[in-house]
Amino acid sequence: MLRPLIFGLIFFGSIGFFIYSISKYLSYIKMGKPDYRFGDIPKRISNTIKIAFLQTKLLRSKLAGILHLCIYWGFVVLLLVVVESIIEGFFPEFSFSFLGPFYNVITFLQDFFGALVLVTVIFSLIRRYIGTPKRLQVERAAKLDATFILVMIAIVMITMFGMSVERILLGASEGYRPVSAFIAGFFTTGSEPAYEFFFWAHIIVVLGFLNYLPYSKHFHVLSSVPNTFFSNYEIPYQGIVLKPINFEDESIVQYGAKDVEDLTWKNLLDGYTCTECGRCTSVCPANITGKLLDPKLIITKIRKRTSEKGPAVIGKKEEDPALNKNLVHDYISSEELWACTTCMACVQECPVMIDHVTPIVDMRRDLVMMESDFPAEMNTVFRNLENNESPWAFGAEQRNDWIDDLSDELAKEGKENHLKKLSNIGSADELDVVFWSGCAGAFDKRYRNVTKSFAQLLNKAGVKYGVLGSEEKCTGDPARRLGNEFLAQSFIQQNAETLKKFNVKKVVTACPHCMHTLKNEYGQFGVDLEVTHHTEFIDDLVKEKKLIPVKENNETVTYHDSCYLGRYNNIYEQPRESIKSIPGINIVEMARSKDKGFCCGAGGGRMFLEETEGKRVNIERTEEALETGAKTIVSACPFCMTMLTDGVKEKEKSEEVKIKDVAELVLESLE
Ligand code: SF4
Ligand code: SF4
Repeated sequence: MLRPLIFGLIFFGSIGFFIYSISKYLSYIKMGKPDYRFGDIPKRISNTIKIAFLQTKLLRSKLAGILHLCIYWGFVVLLLVVVESIIEGFFPEFSFSFLGPFYNVITFLQDFFGALVLVTVIFSLIRRYIGTPKRLQVERAAKLDATFILVMIAIVMITMFGMSVERILLGASEGYRPVSAFIAGFFTTGSEPAYEFFFWAHIIVVLGFLNYLPYSKHFHVLSSVPNTFFSNYEIPYQGIVLKPINFEDESIVQYGAKDVEDLTWKNLLDGYTCTECGRCTSVCPANITGKLLDPKLIITKIRKRTSEKGPAVIGKKEEDPALNKNLVHDYISSEELWACTTCMACVQECPVMIDHVTPIVDMRRDLVMMESDFPAEMNTVFRNLENNESPWAFGAEQRNDWIDDLSDELAKEGKENHLKKLSNIGSADELDVVFWSGCAGAFDKRYRNVTKSFAQLLNKAGVKYGVLGSEEKCTGDPARRLGNEFLAQSFIQQNAETLKKFNVKKVVTACPHCMHTLKNEYGQFGVDLEVTHHTEFIDDLVKEKKLIPVKENNETVTYHDSCYLGRYNNIYEQPRESIKSIPGINIVEMARSKDKGFCCGAGGGRMFLEETEGKRVNIERTEEALETGAKTIVSACPFCMTMLTDGVKEKEKSEEVKIKDVAELVLESLE
């Protein structure tokens, strides 16, 4: 009678404390702003199965992924031992043996996974101290926390085997337990007190572990499943889509995020889900090149600040010193925020679906719109955008220059011109597609050649296409990523009106940044477009035999993936297919390519900012491209082209190595 009583006290006390801890954290998470996360439930469920249960993102790194998968699934199976032990605590004779042959399967799996988890834990412990990968080299407290957890898991396994072995030795074992039987072979007799010792040690460590979880980074054991379910990454788009601010809502007095209550509840849940595995930081171009920005720290600082401010806000402690601080500046510096290229490598690598980019941009919004605290060169960008409708200092009317040049060239060559200005024809109804040149495509001297090359490809393929010329304005991408949502929305609204005026439905563009914004963010403003990137369009035209590359090109080339094309929009193969359609060409891949590609350093508006801290990101990428020995580096984005061209120049390789766009290469190979 005493045993169940003591057990009940320990068990219900532990569960009560656990519920208290969880409800405390839930109340902190509720401080965040609302964010509807219940759309597309089937997709959310399939994401959860794939990512949380089958751990597909962890398996991007084979060794660590397999280790984690073993521990995870081992634990799921071993939960049954815990349940059995808990019921046994109340009813000493209880076992699941009434399940008959199924019980043999359960006990076998428990033995098998128990041994596997034990071996994995020992291996993980060694890995924490010997030959530790860079991303796991953490400060002492975090290392101790990880060690403590691993030791606790080991004790749970050892005590489980202890119980099984004693049962076998006492002749009271049921089920099929080959590992336990093997260990029991080393002993002659069992004893009741030894069994009781293992039982109580097992239960106390399990319940202690449960209550330690909410106070450690291992909270992710509980939060990673809901965090994956509520993640919007891959739903419905691959990339992060920024949320608009409703400037007409007069109740909004804070634009962007200064502190944790200005972030959404999902951002705060992200904070409590971070496992501190460091995968995000290990791929961050800013961190790799020596900038202050560390995406893991962005997330853990959000958690730290939430836990610090939560008690003051929930407890309405108005004198609490925590209320005198803010997330921005007191925890996260503006230098960290401006270093981000929004490349999304961190988001892609994170095994528990944390979004680093949205809170970074939200904090930039605070810096720009509330504090006017931003690097001096951004003044020029914003001024140019306001005066010239593009980030550069060219007059808006010059957007027509490439169109006039190309029309003159085609006329001189006596070729039919399929290009139509929408202002002349009044509507896109009769067109196959509208070609959105983008600011770089219209103004940048080098990229104008790409624009014209692609237009010539459209012309050669007989595509009827229209252009907006000086009616086209910046899509708003740089202003949006730089935190100037107000300015970005003024462009989005103007472009939306123009697109509606001409009834534009299909757009093709040679700029991945324009593409992402038009395709995935303009819908927020009532503009639904079918948007393709020019490399997709070229790939289709080649496959339809409307373009037939015939001239041999025996060069070795390497292709650089633009983050906004690849990572954001899952376009990896079409540019490569277009290149491969050229006879004789040889593509070699860089060490980091496709979904593991490395940013050029220009995204998130960084194209227009100075880069003074550490090594320049474009140099790191250029060195990697040069290491392939390719004589041509192929890109598919105006920003990447500029960054790589500068990189090659700086490495004094401009004579030997060329930077070309996919459209230029394909055009060269046509008759
Ligand atoms: S988006 Fe890119 S640059 Fe920004 S924190 Fe993530 S990995 Fe680093
Ligand atoms: S944010 Fe994700 S990838 Fe980065 S440390 Fe946390 S769990 Fe790991």
